[in-house]
Amino acid sequence: MHSTRLILLGPPGVGKGTQANFLVKEYCIPKISTGDMFREAISKKTALGKTAQEFIQQGKLVPDDAVIQMVHQRLKNADCKKGFILDGFPRTLVQAKALSEIIPIDGVISLMVDEQELIQRLEGRRTCVGCTKMFHATFSPPKKDNVCDDCGGELVQRQDDYRETIQKRFVEYRNLTKPLLKYYEEQKLLKEVNGLGTPEEIFERLLLILKQPS
Ligand code: AMP
Repeated sequence: MHSTRLILLGPPGVGKGTQANFLVKEYCIPKISTGDMFREAISKKTALGKTAQEFIQQGKLVPDDAVIQMVHQRLKNADCKKGFILDGFPRTLVQAKALSEIIPIDGVISLMVDEQELIQRLEGRRTCVGCTKMFHATFSPPKKDNVCDDCGGELVQRQDDYRETIQKRFVEYRNLTKPLLKYYEEQKLLKEVNGLGTPEEIFERLLLILKQPS
């Protein structure tokens, strides 16, 4: 598989954002993270941000129409011409079908990790408000408490990483997002990658799979 219109699929906390950041560097294409876009809209207090916040805080998915419209606009940007990495989109069959009408996709990477492990990861997750780099309170702590190693920004826990919200996000994942695995498998686009290990190890596996002829 040589072209680079990719989807990163997987349950909450599996490491999609981290792997997407590696792919950005490897292929010089943008990451389109719907979660990041919503968080930005929330911090700018836009109308979309207000709508999204209500759903995100409850661990629910933002309604399809709003997400599809946002991604459709983003994909029109010139920087997407060479390809892109979709991180966190699509998350429902309705979104996947809408995407297929917007642009063809070359591959879908499914990152796989056991749910209990993921819950532990999410609870300790800390994100830099400056550059969105991720840390983990236990597994990959920053050198200085609550300060990003890369840009010096403040590290915060996302509201949707609180325990009760995490449980709800998994319910949404099982009911609405998991069916996408079968959907993309049927289209022969799905590539499964074991998501256990260091970010670098996982990325090595991911690259091997991407570089295999399809
Ligand atoms: P993420 O950073 O990808 O985990 O996204 C954070 C939250 O944003 C999710 O829990 C959802 O509430 C919302 N969100 C992100 N992407 C989507 C999407 N494609 N469809 C619906 N809601 C989304």
